[in-house]
Order: sequence, then C-alpha cells, then structure tokens
Amino acid sequence: MRYVVVGGGIIGLATAHRITQERPDAEVTVVEKETQVGSHQTGHNSGVIHAGVYYRPGSLKARLCVVGNRSMVEFCREHDIPVQVCGKLIVATSSEEVPRLHALHERALANGLSATLIGAEQAREYEPHVAAVEAMHVPSTGIVDFGAVCGTLAELLEKAGATVRLGTRVTGVRQVGGEIVVRTTAGDLTADVLVGCAGLHADRVARLAGAVPPARIIPFRGEYYELRPDRRQLVRGLIYPVPDPQFPFLGVHLTRMIDGSVHAGPNAVLALAREGYSWRRVRLRDVAEITAYRGLWRLARRHLRYGLTEVRRSLSVRLFTESLARLVPEVTAADLVRAESGVRAQAIAPTGDLVDDFLIVARDRQVHVINAPSPAATSSLEIARHIVAQLP
Ligand SMILES: Cc1cc2nc3c(=O)[nH]c(=O)nc-3n(C[C@H](O)[C@H](O)[C@H](O)COP(=O)(O)OP(=O)(O)OC[C@H]3O[C@@H](n4cnc5c(N)ncnc54)[C@H](O)[C@@H]3O)c2cc1C
Repeated sequence: MRYVVVGGGIIGLATAHRITQERPDAEVTVVEKETQVGSHQTGHNSGVIHAGVYYRPGSLKARLCVVGNRSMVEFCREHDIPVQVCGKLIVATSSEEVPRLHALHERALANGLSATLIGAEQAREYEPHVAAVEAMHVPSTGIVDFGAVCGTLAELLEKAGATVRLGTRVTGVRQVGGEIVVRTTAGDLTADVLVGCAGLHADRVARLAGAVPPARIIPFRGEYYELRPDRRQLVRGLIYPVPDPQFPFLGVHLTRMIDGSVHAGPNAVLALAREGYSWRRVRLRDVAEITAYRGLWRLARRHLRYGLTEVRRSLSVRLFTESLARLVPEVTAADLVRAESGVRAQAIAPTGDLVDDFLIVARDRQVHVINAPSPAATSSLEIARHIVAQLP
C-alpha cells in the first residue's frame, strides 16, 4: 500500500514512522511545504512534555497525553535526544484561586497522575522565588526540544525507506478510480491512503481532499519573552498559573527550556495570518476567511473582555511583566527580552465553541487530523498509534 502523509510537523512524522513500524511493506511519503521539518507549531512551542493534568478524564487528550508523556520520554532516551523530567508547579497566587487548584488536583488524580498539593513553604523548596498561597507539584512533567524529536523521526523514516519531500506543497487531491492522486508543487503523487496532518492548514487540506471538516482553524499567536541570562536563576523548572477553565490556553508561564534558557509566555491573541508570527504579518486571504466565519464572531461575543485583555498584554511589556510577577515577584520588565512567537492551530466550531479535544476525522481511505493543539506534541507518538489503528 502507498501512504501519503501531508505535513512534516511532529504529528505527520510520528504517524509516518508508526506506519513504517507496523506495516514494513508500506510505501510511505511525507510531503512538507517548508524546507525543514517541524517549521511551524512543532518548532515554536514551550517544549513541555505535559503530564496530563488539565484534560477531561476519558477524553483523547487525557488518555493520549498521559501515555504519550511516557512514550515521548522513552523515545528521547532511546535515541539520545536531550530530555529532562523536571516536574512542574501549578501555583495559586490568591485564595480565590485555591478552589480551582483543588479542582485541578482532583482532575489530575482522575487522570491517574501522581500530583501533590503543597503549601507555600514547600513550594519554595522547589522554586525559591515563587509567590504561592498553595501549589500543586506534578513530578512527571518534562522538557525537550520537539524540533529535535522531528529531526530524529525524519532520520528514522529515511532509514526505513520512507521519503520526506521538503519544499513541496499539496495543492489538490483527486480520486481517480481506486487511487488518490495528490497534486503538489513538485508533481503528482499516487496513493492508496492519505493522512492529513497539516496543522494550521488542517481544515484547508481536508477540504482539498473532499472532506467537510466540522470546524475551522483559527490561528492564535502565542508571544514569548526570555529571561536575560543573568536572571535565569529565578526559575529552576516550570511555574504555571492556575488556568481559567473556560479556555484551552494555560496562561503565561515560566518555562526552563532544555537548552537552559527560561521562556515566559505564551499569551493568546488572534493572528492575522495562519502563520502570523507578529502583528505585522497580515495575509488578506486569511483575514477575509477568519472574519467571514460565524463561529469566530460567536466566540468573540462571548469572550470579548478576555480577548481585549490579551491584546493589551501583547502590546504592553508592563502588563506582560505583571502577569509573570504574580508567579515570581522579582521578575521586572528589564529582565525580559523578546523571543520568537508561535501560532496555535485552534479549531472552532460554527457554534463559536472551541473544539476542546483532539479531533481526527476518518473517511474512505483518508484520515485528517483537524484539531491537534497542546498537548499534541507530548502525545504525538500515541496520536500516531491512534491514527494508524484507523487506516485501512
Ligand atoms: C505557542 C505554542 C506553545 C505550545 N506548547 C506546547 C507544549 O509545551 N507541549 C505540547 O505538547 N504542545 C505544545 N504546543 C502544541 C504543539 O506544538 C502542537 O500541538 C503540535 O506541534 C502540532 O503538530 P502538527 O504536526 O499537527 O502541526 P505543525 O507542527 O504545525 O505541522 C504541520 C505541518 O504541515 C505543513 N503543511 C501545511 N499545509 C501543507 C500543505 N498544503 N502541503 C504540505 N505541507 C503542509 C506545515 O508546513 C507544517 O510543517 C504548543 C503550540 C504552540 C503554538
């Protein structure tokens, strides 16, 4: 059988790798429009191997993240990719946040995790500079460079005889008899099975292939700052706020990266292009599509205040610093240097609801990953297993 996987991010590469493992006779091609694997979400994230605290018990996110955390750490150790299981603190900074922290703790336990509620003093044993009323310690959270994971997956694919075609964009898909003809900027490819893992373009690729995705991708940029090297000692590991349960975003946090730097962020603002890494990056086609989408207006009506606060924080380093200083009061604006941002592909239903869980749609001989936001990088090896189980 011939398999074409669209997208050389972590989900596409992990899926292609899984196919080569489970079906050694398969002919596998990954098609990626950029000249490097992992160029978009996978190469612009916080690099956290999540434990599985936040997700509704029984959801795909919860199940695949908890198992994916372990398989990602094992994969990295097996292939000499630097990884650290450093644990994390989720911090209640006021007494109003404590009931939400306790609810999150219940959820962590329901997801089968070991997670401990601790007092302010114990929190400072983990993170000497943190301001906590109470905190939750989650030992199984880790850090890695998901871009490095992609590099290894691409090497393994090559060794297994698969092809990764870089700089090649999929522009159309036709069904011709029993075959799928994938039109690309480098000529046609013929496949028996098509897997769409196109991230920020997931809905477009699904539509090109004749599927009707039940939700639209809306790009939300996450902006980061970095702590100046001489201030990195303020953060040992990962310090997160108690998130607002209405939103899938975790709130700006302080993250020690695997290279030793400390990142602060990300916020969440509407991007004006699917790959809109800054306010200056505007793509009229994307803006027209976003603004014509009923689902976005419904979402905006419900969450206008939250959205405006995020925009104000995006434009003001002072407000960004205030959010961080709630977690670590010694952080000042002078400690922060702008870092690269990332853009999240978040699927939104026509009702205006954010699609909370991973959404994978199978039809005929095609599978499309429509919604794979965080913790999809953590869960990628298990998402791949889940996809391959649905392939003919
Ligand atoms: C700011 C931010 C922070 C995050 N933090 C974390 C974290 O700490 N931990 C975690 O687990 N997850 C995190 N995530 C989520 C995680 O990065 C994503 O869930 C994951 O990378 C999704 O992988 P993907 O392969 O689906 O998408 P992508 O990495 O975006 O890959 C999709 C690929 O498809 C290609 N493509 C699209 N259209 C076409 C086409 N027509 N033809 C050919 N190629 C095409 C694109 O070029 C791209 O390379 C974060 C995400 C962001 C943005």
